[in-house]
Amino acid sequence: MFGLAVIVPAVLVFYLTYRNAANLASASEAETLRVVNKGYALAVFERLNIARSTLERISQGVERASGTATGSMFTAVTELGAAAAPESGSPALPDELLLIRRTRSGLPEIAVIASNQDTGRRRLQGTLAPDFLWGDPEAAISNGRICVQAEGIDLTCVGSAPSVLDDQVLRDQWDLVLKPEYGVGAWRFLAVRRKHDSFSEYAGLLLPLAVGMLLTALLLSSIEIRRILVPLETLLEKIAALGGGRAPSVSGDDEFVMLHQTFHSLQSRITGQILALKTLQEIDQLILARSPLGGVIELVLKRIRTMVGARPIAISVSSAVGDFSEQDFLLRPDGVLSTVSLRGGPAGDERRPSRMRPHDWQEAKAIAPGLAEFGLASVWCLTVGQDSGPLVRVSLGQLQAEAGENLPARYNGHGELEELAGRVAVALAAEAHEQRLVHQARHDLLTDLPNRLAVFELLPGIIGQAQQSMHGFATLFVDLDRFKAINDGLGHTLGDTVLVEVARRLRSAAGPDTLVARLGGDEFFVVAPYARDRAAAIAMDDAIREAFEEPLVVENNSLFIGLSSGIAMYPTDGEDADMLMRNADLAMYRAKQLGGASAMPFDAEMNQAAEKRVQLEHDLRLAMELDQLHLHYQPRIDSRDGSIVGAEALLRWTHPVAGNIGPGEFIGLAEECGLIGAIGALVLDRACRQLAAWQAAGLDLPMLAVNVSPHQLRAGDLFDSIAKALATHGLDWSQLEIEITESVLVKDSVFASEQLQRLREAGCTVAIDDFGTGYSSLAYLANLPTDTIKIDRSFIGSLHARDTQAVVRSIIALGQTLGKTIVAEGVESSEQVKLLNSWDCHIVQGFVYFPPLPPESLAALLPRIRDAGA
Ligand code: C2E
Ligand code: CA
Ligand code: CA
Repeated sequence: MFGLAVIVPAVLVFYLTYRNAANLASASEAETLRVVNKGYALAVFERLNIARSTLERISQGVERASGTATGSMFTAVTELGAAAAPESGSPALPDELLLIRRTRSGLPEIAVIASNQDTGRRRLQGTLAPDFLWGDPEAAISNGRICVQAEGIDLTCVGSAPSVLDDQVLRDQWDLVLKPEYGVGAWRFLAVRRKHDSFSEYAGLLLPLAVGMLLTALLLSSIEIRRILVPLETLLEKIAALGGGRAPSVSGDDEFVMLHQTFHSLQSRITGQILALKTLQEIDQLILARSPLGGVIELVLKRIRTMVGARPIAISVSSAVGDFSEQDFLLRPDGVLSTVSLRGGPAGDERRPSRMRPHDWQEAKAIAPGLAEFGLASVWCLTVGQDSGPLVRVSLGQLQAEAGENLPARYNGHGELEELAGRVAVALAAEAHEQRLVHQARHDLLTDLPNRLAVFELLPGIIGQAQQSMHGFATLFVDLDRFKAINDGLGHTLGDTVLVEVARRLRSAAGPDTLVARLGGDEFFVVAPYARDRAAAIAMDDAIREAFEEPLVVENNSLFIGLSSGIAMYPTDGEDADMLMRNADLAMYRAKQLGGASAMPFDAEMNQAAEKRVQLEHDLRLAMELDQLHLHYQPRIDSRDGSIVGAEALLRWTHPVAGNIGPGEFIGLAEECGLIGAIGALVLDRACRQLAAWQAAGLDLPMLAVNVSPHQLRAGDLFDSIAKALATHGLDWSQLEIEITESVLVKDSVFASEQLQRLREAGCTVAIDDFGTGYSSLAYLANLPTDTIKIDRSFIGSLHARDTQAVVRSIIALGQTLGKTIVAEGVESSEQVKLLNSWDCHIVQGFVYFPPLPPESLAALLPRIRDAGA
């Protein structure tokens, strides 16, 4: 096409040019012929004239007729009679001066007649020699012929006529007018000549030229086409590579057809991939939406089915987390999904069947029982996942007809099957993770017992069952007695160990079918669905208590754990989880109030007590604002002379309705509800203010003791708040003693010891309060950062007992050896004072001297005592 496009116009132009040039050439040939023809005619005319004038000269006698010149001119010269004289007045018409005579030979003779002009007498007729008249035929015309005619008579022909067809002949006609000179008609000169075709040589060039051009055009166009086709072919290859490397089945050999087909295969591959991506996206959405695993597996199975066609396809999952679980999902050739067992034998004790390990595609000839019914040749399996984590196996059934074929190679060109299996593994891992989270959210981290949330999730189900079977059940709220002392005294790490052991004992004592939960801290909750009445509930409680008869041994400490429990029965003590737990809690609280180490069934009255407690907390907050808290002061007496050696500040609350409330009733509450910090600061400030006031009034109180809660010590700002209170009221560190309960001051409580040591270094003294009730042993009394030991009033109260006497005596002896001041508190009788005196313990605090006094009362005592001292 390219070649033709070049050749056709070229040939056309060539042809037109040729034709035009040929026309031009033939026109110029015609012109030439005319010139030749005319030239010849004029030459003949010239020779006629020459002959006539020669004849005239002969008639005049100037020349002889027999001269050489005339001889060649004339064949004969004859005399003619005189010519008639021309009539005067009329124009003289010339005579016919040329005569044409036919001869016998056929060739006409031509004679010219001339007369003497001067005389007009002698007229001569000269027959012209043809050679002279017609001249040299060669010179007349080349390659042609000129014939002369006169009045239908052929006079002569010179040259030769061309022997060619008519249309190749040029003709010319020229009339030589003779009338004026010779008085005869014109002679006609007819010239013919062969057309000289000067362009025929070019015609010969045309073919090679055209062929040359065609070849050139072909060459150039093929170069050009290659320039287009080579990149096109590369493009094709690349698209084909994108399209999975498969060469398109080509029906046409045109690159554009191939391009189209390659694009088509690319498109179908991309469509397939988009479909795959969509499936994966759907799966991801399901995973993200925490849908059940079954939904994901169904989606994956259906996607695999679109890839591999109707055949049994199975997905087996094996999750290694939580309770070991395995499941097999089968998509039958008819598209029905079912769960089957693809593992031979019971999956019983073997935690993870050894067959289930991550591996690439493998062909298994042994058909699992669940797949046996389909009459398969083999099963192709792919297992993904981690050895220790969730595993997913995809199984493709190979039909008998396909035996020996590599199924995965046929269908899994792009690894989509692996990807799908991987997604199931992700879903499985997500589900396992979810389960872990669910477990974590519902279990206590320390003891792994169910937590409060789990109780609230499980209780409604238990209640539902109880409703159906029309019976009640028991809930127990169990709290450890004095756990705070253990925690504070032995440290949290040990406290945690104690809790773990307590949980273990509770769990095993409660037995199966009983829910044991840890609600937080040292609070446990037991739901016993088969303890249907109060007696059964108490039996359950007894069983638990029995488990705690043995002491807990933790890091060489052997601890007896007392339990306080409250029992609430469904449905009498509560119809829902919330009520049951709250009322069991109340009953427990009451058991605690009554001294602990016992169980207390719930009683409707308790509710009121609980409400009172809530009210109390509310009132306590209000008390701070309304300034209902104030201090009383109990003097510390030297029993030898009855002098006041100091006083202890004790907090009092004058409630507008309930009257005076003792600190035993609200300090614990303040510690629980976080008010203790504010209250502690208030006490410090009031005490210091009071001491400064007495000092200003000239009253002498050697020392003031202030009680400090372990919570204040733990908060870390005790030193600063004491320093602030002292500075505010211009007091000295040495005037203050800090009383802190024994349980805080133990080996593990490095922080507490450091803080107290810091206070001591600042000049203040530290007293251990309620000594003997904590878990500290006498042995490490030496290490305690303390100046004063206050023997707990429970020892003083039972001082009549021999055992107690021994304990108290050893405390005093050891304390004095260590250089500590020993204070006996809660001394109520003079017998006790005497006994203590006899053991060298003289500092006494108790009702035997004074109860805690309002500040005015103490002030009234102070001057008297100073006066007495003076
Ligand atoms: P505590 O530090 O052991 O205070 C001594 C308690 O024994 C006082 O009880 C006091 O009234 C009482 N008492 C004094 N002499 C006798 C006696 O001869 N016989 C008997 N049976 N009891 C006697 P109170 O005032 O009810 O204080 C109870 C507890 O409240 C105190 O025990 C102390 O631990 C705490 N407390 C009192 N005031 C404060 C305070 O300002 N801050 C802190 N954190 N705790 C305080
Ligand atoms: Ca005290
Ligand atoms: Ca005390």
